[in-house]
Amino acid sequence: MALATLSLTGCSDRKPESVERPSVRDVNVLLVTMDTTRPDYLSCYNPKAAPTPNLDGLAARGTRFTQAVVQVPLTLPSHACIHTGSYPQMNGIRDNGGFQLDPKVPTLARLVGKQGFETAAFIGAAILNRRYGLNRGFTTYADDMHETKRIEKLPGIMAEIPAEEVSGRALDWLESAEKRGVGGAGKPFFIWLHYYDPHFPYNPPEPFRTRFRSNPYAGEIAYTDAQIGRVLEWLRAKKIEDRTLVVLMGDHGESLGEHGEYTHGIFLYDSTVHVPLIIAGPGLPKGAKVDQQVRSIDIAPTVLDFLSVSDPSPMQGESLLPLLTSGHSVRTTYSYMETLYPRTAMAWSELRGVRAGDWKLIVAPKPELYQLTADPEESRNVIDQHAAETERLKKRVWEVAGDPNHLSPLQSSPLDDQTRKELESLGYVNVSRKQEIRLDMSGPDPKDRVAVLKIMERTAEMINTDRYAAAIPLLRPLLETDPQNPMLYTRLGLCYERLGQYGKAIDVRRAAIQKSADNSETYAELGELYVRVGRLDEAIAAMNRAAEMNPANLQNLTNLATAYLQIGKQADAERAIHGILAQNSKSAEAHNLLGLLEVSRGRGEQARANFELAIEEDSNLAEPYLNLGLLAEKTGNPGKAAECYEQFLKKASPDKHRDVIPKVKEALAQLRR
Ligand SMILES: [Zn+2]
Repeated sequence: MALATLSLTGCSDRKPESVERPSVRDVNVLLVTMDTTRPDYLSCYNPKAAPTPNLDGLAARGTRFTQAVVQVPLTLPSHACIHTGSYPQMNGIRDNGGFQLDPKVPTLARLVGKQGFETAAFIGAAILNRRYGLNRGFTTYADDMHETKRIEKLPGIMAEIPAEEVSGRALDWLESAEKRGVGGAGKPFFIWLHYYDPHFPYNPPEPFRTRFRSNPYAGEIAYTDAQIGRVLEWLRAKKIEDRTLVVLMGDHGESLGEHGEYTHGIFLYDSTVHVPLIIAGPGLPKGAKVDQQVRSIDIAPTVLDFLSVSDPSPMQGESLLPLLTSGHSVRTTYSYMETLYPRTAMAWSELRGVRAGDWKLIVAPKPELYQLTADPEESRNVIDQHAAETERLKKRVWEVAGDPNHLSPLQSSPLDDQTRKELESLGYVNVSRKQEIRLDMSGPDPKDRVAVLKIMERTAEMINTDRYAAAIPLLRPLLETDPQNPMLYTRLGLCYERLGQYGKAIDVRRAAIQKSADNSETYAELGELYVRVGRLDEAIAAMNRAAEMNPANLQNLTNLATAYLQIGKQADAERAIHGILAQNSKSAEAHNLLGLLEVSRGRGEQARANFELAIEEDSNLAEPYLNLGLLAEKTGNPGKAAECYEQFLKKASPDKHRDVIPKVKEALAQLRR
C-alpha cells in the first residue's frame, strides 16, 4: 500500500506526454558561431569586402540582419547569452573563465534535447571547454583541442583547432548520424559549430595566407567561409537543406585599431559589439534584410519559437519570428551590454552600456553618449547636450545591472559545487574561498589607457616573433604609469624568462605581488621559475598558492604533483594527483603522475598499468612512453624499451623536451648495438 501511494505521488506532478508535447516542428537546427567576425568583412554585408561566397549564398536564401549586436564582446559570456537567451547577470557567466553557467538556467540544447532532437557541438577553442557548463544538453560535445601537443607563445592565447577540423568533426558526426536516420523525417538534430579562426593571432593556412598577405584577418574569414561551405554543401547534397534551420552569428567583432583597441573585450563600441547574423530555413523569406536592432539573447527564443517548443521559464530575449515572417516589430529596443574584462585583466574600470536603436550610452568613470545614425564611428561624445536621453538610458542599464548604489563585489566560481566538495575532502580547504571581483567602477577609465593598449599590441607582435629583448624597454616604463595592471607583469616576466634571465623574471613576479597586481598566474609562473633555478621549497609554496587560487587550472596541480615527487613527498603528490582526477577522471597527465608515484614506491606493475592508461587516454602525451621505456629497460626488456623510446621521440616537443631528447636518442642507440 505504501509503495502504491509513493508511486502515485511521484506521478501526480506530471502532465500526460501528449499535453506536454504539442506538435514540435520536425526541422533540424544548425547553429554556427563565427568568432571575432565583423559584418563589414563579409561580402554580403559589404560589397568591398573580400568574397565570402558561402555566407553570401546563405544570405541569399535567408534573412540578413544589419543591426545585430551582442551583450558582451568576449567569447564565453557572449556564447552563454546566445545559448540561454539571457543576460550575464541571469546566466551566471560574466567573463572569460572563472564562472560557471547557472545550473538552473535552461539552455537551448537542453530544451530541444528534451523534445527528442539529437544534439552535438563542435568547438573551435578551449575558451568554450565543457567545464564552464555550455555543454549542458549536448550529447556530443567535441572540445578536445590536442592541448598536450601544443607549444605556447603568448600567455592567454587559447588552444584552438582550425576550421577544417571543426567542419571535419561535424561532417563525421553528420555522416554517422545519417546512418541512424538522424536528420531525416522524425529524427531531427540540433548541432552547433564554433569557428575560432578569425581570432588573434591571424594566421590563415594556404592558399589564404598568400592571397591575403596584406590582411590576414580577412584571410581567416575567407578560410572560415570556405570551411562553413563544406557543411552547407553537405546539407544540400543530402537534400535536407529545406528541412534545416540555419542560424549564423558572430560572437563579437574585432576593433582593428579603432578607438585605440586592437582586438576586443576592453570597449563597448560597435567595432566589437556589432556582428553579422543570418537566419535561413524552411518557410522563411529569401534574400531579405532586417534593419531593426536585434540581440544575441534573441537567438534561443527565436529557435524555440520556430520549432514550436514551449519555454518553461521565459527567457530575457524575444523571438524574432514575427519580424522574420511578417515584418512585425518586436521588443528588442534596448540591448544591455557589459564587459568586466578591463577590470579582471587590467585592473581598470569595468564598462556597462545600452544600445537603443539610434543611441548608445556607455557607463564609465567618464560616461559617453553617441548618436549612432549621425555618428556611426562613435567619435563624438554628445553626453553634455542630451541630459534627458542620458537619464532615460541610464535607467535601462541599471535595470539589468542592479542598483548602482549597492554594487557588491562579484564572487567568481571556477568550480562547480561537486568538484569543490571533492577538492575540500582532499584537504584543499581554500578552494571554497571564492575570488572576489570589485565592480564599482573604481580604477582608471579604459579610454584613458589607450597608450597601454598600443604597447600591448606592439609587444604581442614582438613576442609572437621571438623578439623578447625588443619588448622589454617598451613594457618596463608601464610598471610606473599603470602599476596595478597584472598583464604587464605577466608579459614582462615572460620576456625575461624566454631570454633565460630567470632571476629578473622572478623579480618581476615579486613586484606584482608587492603592488597587489598578482593573480593565480603570478604564483604559477613563480613556481615554474623556482623549479628552473632549483629552489624547490619556494617553488612548492608558490604552486600551492596558485592551486588554491585557481584549482580549475589543472596545470597548477600537475606542476605541484611533479614538484612533490621530485622532493620525495609522496603523500602530498598523491593528494595533488587526486585533485586533478576529481576534475577530470580521464586525465592522461594524472595517470602518468600516478605511474611515477608507484615507481617511487617500488611498485613496477602498478606503475606500468598507469602509464598504459595514460597512453590510452591521450596517445599524444609523450612522457608515458618514456616512462614505460625506462621501466622496460630496468626489468630486462630491451626490445620493448626501444619501441617505447621510438614512440617518445615521435611525440616529444622539441621545446619542452629539448634536454631529454638527446639522452633518449643515446639510450636508443645503445639498445640497438
Ligand atoms: Zn569570441
